[in-house]
Amino acid sequence: MSNETKQCSTCGNFFPLTRENYGQRASTGGFRARCRMCDREAKARYAEENREQVREKWRRQNDRRKAAGQPWSEEDVAVIRTKLRDRCFYCGETLFGGGEIDHMTSLAQGGTNEFHNLTLACMPCNRAKGGLDARAYIEWRRSRGEPCRDIFWPTQEDLGDIRQAVETLRLALERRAAKQPEGAKILTFKRR
Ligand SMILES: [Zn+2]
Ligand SMILES: [Zn+2]
Repeated sequence: MSNETKQCSTCGNFFPLTRENYGQRASTGGFRARCRMCDREAKARYAEENREQVREKWRRQNDRRKAAGQPWSEEDVAVIRTKLRDRCFYCGETLFGGGEIDHMTSLAQGGTNEFHNLTLACMPCNRAKGGLDARAYIEWRRSRGEPCRDIFWPTQEDLGDIRQAVETLRLALERRAAKQPEGAKILTFKRR
């Protein structure tokens, strides 16, 4: 890792020149002039002062994505981001509202664009994962001692247990409903 630092153009603080401190431009890979914190503040302020424009921009982006055959919406991404607490699905790095949509089973391996096959990953994970599926990539990371998020992959056995539990609950509810007297009186209070 280099020891290079960079001065933020906005707050004037010096931070190590890393992805954690400075965002990168997708087009050139160059670091941004202002630090992540200032960038976030500026974006939040802009969004608050220009609600309608921001909404309009999302709408346009959405339309463009749809036209390009990208079937997930901004809302889908927002749901995924919330579930992941804005962290990469694989390594757990904070995404700062960015990251890339990742197909857990790649399209090349027959994965689909359906919601359950989509997740968010940081750029390095998405690049490293390549054509691997999510499980294989996690195993690969583990074998190299790389940090991984705890991910619960239900096995067939787990699924059996879950189904059994649901069935038990359903039967219990049925039994309780059967015990209830039919046409239970509804009490009404009249005003005198
Ligand atoms: Zn700053
Ligand atoms: Zn990652």
